[in-house]
Amino acid sequence: MTLPSKGGGSFRRSAPGRDFDFLIVGGGVTGCVMASLLVNRKLAAPGRVAIVADGAQDPAAPAVPDSEWDLRVFALSRASQRLLTICGAWQLLPAQKFHAYERMCVWDALGGIPRGGHPLGGIPRGGIPLGGTSRAVTPPAGISRGETLPGHIARAGEPAGAGVLRFDCAELGEPNLGYIVEGRALQTACRRAAATAGAVSIEAGIVNILVDAAQVRVGLSDDRELQCQLLIAADGADSAARKLLGIDTAGHSYHQEALVAHVRTAIPHGNTAWQRFLPGGPLAFLPLPDGRSSIVWSTARPEARRLRALAPAAFGAALERASGEVLGACELTTPIASFPLRLQYALDYARPRAVLVGDAAHAVHPLAGQGLNLGLLDCAVLAEVLGGDQRGPRDAVAGGPACFGEHKLLRRYERRRKAENLLSATVFDSLERLFSNDSPLLARLRIAGLTAVGRVPFLKRELAARALGLSGDVPAFLRSGPG
Ligand SMILES: Cc1cc2nc3c(=O)[nH]c(=O)nc-3n(C[C@H](O)[C@H](O)[C@H](O)COP(=O)(O)OP(=O)(O)OC[C@H]3O[C@@H](n4cnc5c(N)ncnc54)[C@H](O)[C@@H]3O)c2cc1C
Repeated sequence: MTLPSKGGGSFRRSAPGRDFDFLIVGGGVTGCVMASLLVNRKLAAPGRVAIVADGAQDPAAPAVPDSEWDLRVFALSRASQRLLTICGAWQLLPAQKFHAYERMCVWDALGGIPRGGHPLGGIPRGGIPLGGTSRAVTPPAGISRGETLPGHIARAGEPAGAGVLRFDCAELGEPNLGYIVEGRALQTACRRAAATAGAVSIEAGIVNILVDAAQVRVGLSDDRELQCQLLIAADGADSAARKLLGIDTAGHSYHQEALVAHVRTAIPHGNTAWQRFLPGGPLAFLPLPDGRSSIVWSTARPEARRLRALAPAAFGAALERASGEVLGACELTTPIASFPLRLQYALDYARPRAVLVGDAAHAVHPLAGQGLNLGLLDCAVLAEVLGGDQRGPRDAVAGGPACFGEHKLLRRYERRRKAENLLSATVFDSLERLFSNDSPLLARLRIAGLTAVGRVPFLKRELAARALGLSGDVPAFLRSGPG
């Protein structure tokens, strides 16, 4: 079968090409993990997987010295950690570049009165001076600032009452709720793991894709041509491969930007991920190992522009107010990066000899910190399907790489992942709509909802299992394992 290219122009005949079993377009975390996994699951021999990466740096991320934390951080689930361990990437992460979080606290700006009954929980309106102490927030003897606070310490400033939902790893019988991982360190570890697995790295953009019955031919920006049995598009939300394959997307813009920065706070983060739902969008504080927090503040574009233009001290004050002063005074310690937010999903994940994984297939609102986790599960399920999962067509996989492009097989991957990803995207989208408004009726509804979930242990456990990536359609090799 021949697919017409939407990329304009005909397929280039060029310098002698190279032939691979798998060609992955995109050298982000998803692409590199996919490459390692194919070798690790014995679906490809070293040297038979290539990653084509354009080498583009994330334009939104300001350059930072190595000693400093990259602005991009990811909250990674248990399933993602296991997958990264299987791929050999987790072991390559420097210990100071990831941090386990043990608790999560989610609350509605119109509920969640801080403990102590006073709207500001005993914290002076101007906040606690950085480095200063307050009787209410002084950690117990033996615990220094920034260190773990034991599970159930009632802290002033901590939201309590209606509309607050808390998760604690101890309560769930888990060692932690996941990890906050530095983006650049994760990317480097995944690249190194892919190289160790024997993936061939090719620095170029792709300009054309031609699929026929026997193979896929890919034209590169440097005039080279590559052939493969299966093309895996992992080139992000603006995927060139997806466009060249003629796969359409649906979705909408949130008309929001996510502002990302690292801040120092007067009150220790207590190894807790905090998220306050404001009428303009959610504001999250993710705990970093050096005691700072990484913020992700999603808000309407004009407000985002206004906030970005503030002087650091004014931004810190705005952040402190927006957070309900949960961590007291906030000091901005980095520049602010900004990411436009959209919901986008590909209408197809599979074509003969081609599939989409990661943001190339789905881009979701960051309010649940799940985008990359979903992409990594795509990789795991694709590997499981290609390896012949329990209910899959065994005849199709028995033939090895030559059969990996069979549409019947790839459709199986599509059915499994599209359903899960659409469910997640719809839940995140509905949460965004439900929370990002100031309707008193909806406020009552969501406060009641958060309170009710908190009171039903089964629901809470189910939500936590979802967030850990351990419920739903999860590949057998991730259900138990390291981490
Ligand atoms: C503010 C914010 C916070 C987030 N927080 C979290 C979180 O806490 N947890 C989480 O799980 N997710 C989070 N996400 C989502 C996460 O960032 C994405 O889901 C993830 O980065 C997607 O990875 P990817 O590898 O699929 O795509 P990308 O990271 O976009 O990588 C694509 C790669 O392909 C390359 N490429 C692009 N075009 C071409 C081409 N034509 N040829 C060759 N190469 C190409 C790019 O250079 C890049 O290297 C967050 C997102 C945002 C915006």
